[in-house]
Amino acid sequence: MSLQKEIQLLTLSGPGIAVLLALIFYGLWSYQRTQGYLLLVSGAYFLYAVSLSMQILKLPADPGINAITTAALYLAGIILLCQGVLARHKKNTPYGLQLLISATVLVGLYYFYYIDANVVARIYVLNFGIGLTLLSCFIALNDLRRGKRIEQIFYWVFAAFTLNFFIRTPLTLLTAKGLTATEHFNSSIFWLALQISLLVFVILLALLIIIVALLDRIDLLRKERDEDSLTGCLNRRGFFTAVQHMAPDTSNQQRYILLADLDHFKKINDTYGHAVGDAVLRLFASTARKVLPAQDVMGRIGGEEFIFLLNSPCSAQKAIELANRLRLAISTAQCMTVSPPISITASFGLGPFYLPIDTAIQQADKFLYLAKNSGRNNVAVDPSLLES
Ligand code: GH3
Ligand code: MG
Ligand code: MG
Repeated sequence: MSLQKEIQLLTLSGPGIAVLLALIFYGLWSYQRTQGYLLLVSGAYFLYAVSLSMQILKLPADPGINAITTAALYLAGIILLCQGVLARHKKNTPYGLQLLISATVLVGLYYFYYIDANVVARIYVLNFGIGLTLLSCFIALNDLRRGKRIEQIFYWVFAAFTLNFFIRTPLTLLTAKGLTATEHFNSSIFWLALQISLLVFVILLALLIIIVALLDRIDLLRKERDEDSLTGCLNRRGFFTAVQHMAPDTSNQQRYILLADLDHFKKINDTYGHAVGDAVLRLFASTARKVLPAQDVMGRIGGEEFIFLLNSPCSAQKAIELANRLRLAISTAQCMTVSPPISITASFGLGPFYLPIDTAIQQADKFLYLAKNSGRNNVAVDPSLLES
């Protein structure tokens, strides 16, 4: 196959690949419709495919109109891509700046085509315009440098993509300079390299965005699997997994299991209804979250039963103090869902933490039972904790 043919084939494969990627993004978005940014990226790839096709097929035929129309579509595609990427990272798109850059580019192209025809200036205006638009997005993505590994890879590929528009332009002009008989061949090789580099970036960025989207979805499923949807704390499975995967404590410091069970909770449901019961459970969880230090782990392991792995107290005495602080906070918290507001109490059993966790829970449960039997709204402590 002649080089000319190869170039033609490669040029034509560009829009085909871009449309295929646009469809993949659309399919990924339409599956659950939770990742709206995928629709924006799909639109970006579609616009890229359309403007590339228009350029190849010379539609519209007038070169000036073609140059300006396809430039406008490229810029719109780039803005959509930026918007999609930034939406994934919960950042705002600098629209004002990007629209200003686009308008300047279009005015520049018009000027250097119709008023002062200058092809070199046009190449600079379009490529630097796209480069600057990408740069405004790249700057906003700064946090990704410290993100997950895949986000860091995306960050640097995006950096290379942005840089590509700044360094390719002078390179194009350098290569095109001083060419005589071999000009066509040389510039063809250059055109080939340019097409390949763009295609590589288009595919690489798409692959990375697809991987990020799939990993996000896996993370979300994992979160939903391990989280109690009512209170937002870990469920039984999530708590067990978190505890089992926790780094072993090398400080030799005792850790504690605190079990809690709401008192006469059935009565709340019977008196005020299930929805108020649910609000009380949420109130319990949010109060506990406020009282307990961040390094302690909380889970809901039964209807109105909660578990805490206390990592923070440095002694049994401190653990008892923390448990009582929590008990007091619960008994003074008020559920505002009903009028007049109601308050609740809970009983607690405190024991040592060890693995297997089931056995440690069984041991603490004996003291929870004791707390219930000795009048509720109190903390019963495993005496073995006080011996050492
Ligand atoms: P005790 O002080 O002995 O613990 O009495 P109790 O009423 O709290 O205990 P019991 O085990 O008799 O009742 C627990 C109630 O918790 C029964 C059940 O309907 C209710 N429950 C369990 N899960 C939920 C939930 O998700 N939402 C609501 N609103 N109620 C729940
Ligand atoms: Mg119970
Ligand atoms: Mg109860």
